[in-house]
Amino acid sequence: MALSPMMQQYKEIKGTYQDCLLMFRLGDFYELFFEDAEIASRELELTLTGRACGLKERAPMCGVPFHAADNYISRLVKKGYKVAICEQMEDPATAKGIVKRDVIRVVTPGTLDFDQGSSRNLFIASLEISGGKAYIAYSDVSTGELYALETDCGSKDDSLGSELAKIAPGEIILTGKTKEKLNEILDRDGRSYYFNVVDDSYYRKSTGERVIKEHFSVGSLLPLGIEGRNGLISAIGALLMYLTDTQKQDPSQITELVLNDPKGHMILDRATVRNLELLETLYDKNVNGSLLGVLDRTKTAMGGRLLRRYVLEPLTDPDEIDRRLDGVQDLVDDEDVLDVVISSLRKIYDFERLSARVSSGRANAKDLIALKVTLQALPDLHQSLATCRSEVLKDIDQKLGDFSGLADAIERAVVDDPPFVITDGGIIKDGYDEELDGLKESIADAKAWIAGLETTEKERTGIKTLKVGYNKVFGYYIDVSKAASANVPDDYIRKQTLVNNERYITPELKEKEGLVLSAEAKINALEYSIFSRLRDEIKPYIPGLQRASSAVGALDVLASFAQVSISGGFVRPEVNAGKAIRITEGRHPAVEKMIGREMFVANDTEMDQEGQSMLMITGPNMSGKSTYMRQTAVIVLMAQMGCFVPAKEAEIGVVDRVFTRIGASDNLAYGQSTFFVEMSELANILRNATDRSLIILDEIGRGTSTFDGLSIAWATVEYLCRDDLRIRTMFATHYHELTVLDRKYPCIRNLSVDVSENGSDIVFLHRIREGAASKSYGIHVAKIAGIPYQVRRGAQAKLRELEAGEAAGKGTGISSEQISIFDAVGDQEPEIRYAPNPYEQVIDSLRAVNVNDITPMKALNIIDSLQNQVRDIDTEYDEDRGGEL
Ligand code: ATP
Repeated sequence: MALSPMMQQYKEIKGTYQDCLLMFRLGDFYELFFEDAEIASRELELTLTGRACGLKERAPMCGVPFHAADNYISRLVKKGYKVAICEQMEDPATAKGIVKRDVIRVVTPGTLDFDQGSSRNLFIASLEISGGKAYIAYSDVSTGELYALETDCGSKDDSLGSELAKIAPGEIILTGKTKEKLNEILDRDGRSYYFNVVDDSYYRKSTGERVIKEHFSVGSLLPLGIEGRNGLISAIGALLMYLTDTQKQDPSQITELVLNDPKGHMILDRATVRNLELLETLYDKNVNGSLLGVLDRTKTAMGGRLLRRYVLEPLTDPDEIDRRLDGVQDLVDDEDVLDVVISSLRKIYDFERLSARVSSGRANAKDLIALKVTLQALPDLHQSLATCRSEVLKDIDQKLGDFSGLADAIERAVVDDPPFVITDGGIIKDGYDEELDGLKESIADAKAWIAGLETTEKERTGIKTLKVGYNKVFGYYIDVSKAASANVPDDYIRKQTLVNNERYITPELKEKEGLVLSAEAKINALEYSIFSRLRDEIKPYIPGLQRASSAVGALDVLASFAQVSISGGFVRPEVNAGKAIRITEGRHPAVEKMIGREMFVANDTEMDQEGQSMLMITGPNMSGKSTYMRQTAVIVLMAQMGCFVPAKEAEIGVVDRVFTRIGASDNLAYGQSTFFVEMSELANILRNATDRSLIILDEIGRGTSTFDGLSIAWATVEYLCRDDLRIRTMFATHYHELTVLDRKYPCIRNLSVDVSENGSDIVFLHRIREGAASKSYGIHVAKIAGIPYQVRRGAQAKLRELEAGEAAGKGTGISSEQISIFDAVGDQEPEIRYAPNPYEQVIDSLRAVNVNDITPMKALNIIDSLQNQVRDIDTEYDEDRGGEL
């Protein structure tokens, strides 16, 4: 037995797209067969059926309706599958033999462009690594953006990892060789990307050069800024080729190449983006409560996407930063202008994506109406920006351009509320095209007759429930309930019988139907061709529209900065090329938004790379050390984004990178312990920070034994205070031993957070003051957190014991005279000793718990066992030694 002809056609096409799930158009459905059907039915929870295929066994099959296919394709692609969409290339009604079919597009995780209106870009990246450098080209096919950059890469340098994390591509294409190199560099983080290994030929430089020249219609690569930059040429060329292969057409929506020079902006590594909660909160991964949540008052999708980029790429050139700040200042100074800008922005659709859809021939009539409404909002923006003085707003105004002619053309042609489908008519306005009007006119009488038929037939037959309807398969019909069907007139001809109804036609209706349907087929075809012509006429405007849409995005972000600056009482920072950071009455924008501005205690920050470069912050738990350090970093970042800052005054000597090491996090899935992660993050900081960087260290060495941790913290401080380095650092610690280091290193300034003690109660004042703290109050915080009385009592007893030992010289072993570990032991590792701690075993059992593997039953068992252990230890303590906790 042989496969049926249609199944042979299926097999042939599938043979070319073996790595994809093939969606095969059959009438109103996309069907999947054989193994693809099994996968899709499992992943999409569809019923698996079968279809005769010429063989003895039926072919497993499942399908989705074509009009709802986007949703299913999107679900499959998000699960990591590639989907090839195979269309009917001719009208089945007129086709002779098997309908011609072909793949019109391959949708991959990096090229899924169905999620319209999203305020996030979906990038596909192409990567090339050679000679210690990485070259990345990346594009969002739904907006037509294309970027390329070059960055260092090596196992000790995190730049490539940081860049990739920032781009967060949905898919990375690369050769097998590059993948091997990348595996060595990226270790744990590399595993979270979706890779698509392509043939080496994609990355051939000569081919890349030709493809790029053809795409941008240039004779030389010089104007694109990539002449002689072979790595970039390979990466960009491969990306364009891959997009052509998957989109099955030249990606004409890409009209510009933007070279992203990492030197022009800060590099923020993953830990910093996470720790400073720039995009989402650490605790519940929510945008609310993050810096983005504070800053985002954008009204357009372009603004939303650009703001993310501004947050992740603060600038480093003070002049560039000032340009943005001037724009924000203009809008802050004139709230009337700001109001008009905001209300105009509200009317603007995602025309970056709309333009891309027009360019790739995928726009429907609704898209054109959205484009028209958007373009009609631009004159108001022009008018409001006319009075602005800043360069940046003038530049935006100029880029917005004048598209009134285009808006009028759409207005004249397309009805205000057209249908989604562009082949069924109902799109073009009356009076736009003579031929179309003539056709519509020719059937006007027949249509009016049909429209009035229900009333006339109700009167004629006396059947009140009679209805006139239409469907694609049976055409027009008169619907009568079965109960009334005995009363239908003789000229009614039965056409269809349903469960409760009968459907009829009359000879006159049949005649009018013939007239109407044949004219409507012509009308629909004509409307479609008028619409396609109009869509093609827009294509030459695409580069201008893309320029205008990015100008709208930039304006939206500046307006957003202006709004939060006004409502948050932010001030314009002075950003300069110096190396000092001076903030008067600084606040943390997200914390103050959460707890209310009147509740937030403002604090000053003063540090200078050339003077006191290290602020050593001690103080009780929960007093506000982390908040203080984070607010300083966040203010620096906001200033360098070009936004006003939450402070009374701020002077920022521009920072090239902000590094953070905050809190405990482990990477159990990749076999990395909390302490290992901590040390890796510290290593990255110490290797890559420069004299222009800002380092935030919130506890170092807490994930190991006290002496190990203290030694590492101590040596880190000494390293950062070396005369030849001196990096601006904020260091919060509970190792009070470190505070004596200011005697050896004048660049260290001790600060602490005020508390007021009232008997056994303490009040956190959250106020930073000069000098070191005397104690940590950890046990008080344990009380607030609800640690059981027995444990606190035991801890208090142990604390007294340790303090007594310290006083007798048997304590930590580091006296204030022996200031430097390096002084004491030279190049040797410091001696490691372990203090006996009766609760060590309790802590050990807690550490051994695998949080990923917890169930309610296991949790109860763990709590039970901990309680028993604590009880055993407590019985060793005399009641009298506890005191009141
Ligand atoms: P730990 O040593 O336990 O890590 P910490 O000293 O770093 O604690 P934070 O986490 O900064 O303390 O602050 C604890 C809480 O105190 C914050 O969540 C916030 O609600 C509040 N807080 C911190 N700083 C301020 C401030 N300046 N004004 C008002 N409330 C503050």
